[in-house]
Amino acid sequence: MTRREWLAGTAVAGALGAQTAGPKNTVVSSENGLRACEVAIAYLARGKDTLDAVIAGVNVNEEDPNDTSVGYGGLPNEQGVVELDACVMHGPTRRAGSVASLRGVKTPSKVARLVMEETDHIMLVGEGALRFAKSYGFKEEDLLTGKSRLAWLVWKRSLRDGSGHNNWTDGLDAPGRPSAALKVAFPEADEETLAWAVEQVLRPPTGTINCLALNRKGEISGVTTTSGLAWKIPGRVGDSPILGAGLWVDQDVGAAGSTGRGEENIRIAGAHTIVENMRHGMNPKAACLDALKRVARNFADDRARLEQFDLNFYALRKDGEYAAAALWDTRRRGGRMVRTKFAVNVDGSGRLEDTAFLLSRA
Ligand code: ASP
Repeated sequence: MTRREWLAGTAVAGALGAQTAGPKNTVVSSENGLRACEVAIAYLARGKDTLDAVIAGVNVNEEDPNDTSVGYGGLPNEQGVVELDACVMHGPTRRAGSVASLRGVKTPSKVARLVMEETDHIMLVGEGALRFAKSYGFKEEDLLTGKSRLAWLVWKRSLRDGSGHNNWTDGLDAPGRPSAALKVAFPEADEETLAWAVEQVLRPPTGTINCLALNRKGEISGVTTTSGLAWKIPGRVGDSPILGAGLWVDQDVGAAGSTGRGEENIRIAGAHTIVENMRHGMNPKAACLDALKRVARNFADDRARLEQFDLNFYALRKDGEYAAAALWDTRRRGGRMVRTKFAVNVDGSGRLEDTAFLLSRA
């Protein structure tokens, strides 16, 4: 072999190497998704499908009674019933499935996948979604936990009519009885849980998990799953199961998802907007910030009104570049403000990173 032939050979091998190297296994999720990312990345490392990976990841949160924004233990609607929303998108086959207002099933993400795989529909809601799930063997269960039931009861006690009366507290038939302190009303609850419940009442929380995965072959999938807004009107559906709002995956471009105030996301079709932004050349961070600017524009950039909610976007491009951006730099946790973060795992190395943000509370 001449030197020239050898050099030509290594150049071809180098080019082939670059072509086959592909992106790293990458999973991006909301801040509550550190463990979900870990589970999903382990699936990818074993060569499993990207949708199997993200669903296995978010199942951790759906089944966790202590994640009060997703699945089992999620905060209920105003009648004390947990209603769950979820959707999935599978990049390689370009298919999607969704369920909304699903009661009694801990893992709506799995039901959404079944809608995708076993029907020629995209979205099932309410009673129909539950019947469908049961026909595939899902158990109907009470999704309220002691903790979420307590928060709901505390919320009921906080409601007042014009004269300050509430049917759920010490009644008119008991004059002179000292107004019952929460500790007396709920002697079983420890102080920390009661303080948490009061916080949920004062600021009805939003919370959700979005999880996006990319494998070395460049395949992408995503899922978003939630119990939605606490104390919502029964039947209220947020952005999480709305394809194009709570989640969008385009195998040619990348994926995006959202958590936070669903109504505001639906009004700009956030996830679809972000993927289209990336298609037209924006990087994931710029794509998310542009979507947030559209949200702010809907409020004429009025800070006082924008300050009343949180909204977060996550984006993962086909080449592995990722970002997350939040409307606000900080969010409330317990009684204090903390930096808004998101979870990521690249090839087994997981961490929380600060999100980019549109507005600063400072
Ligand atoms: N985005 C979801 C909703 O609006 C849940 C959340 O609040 O994060 O229902």
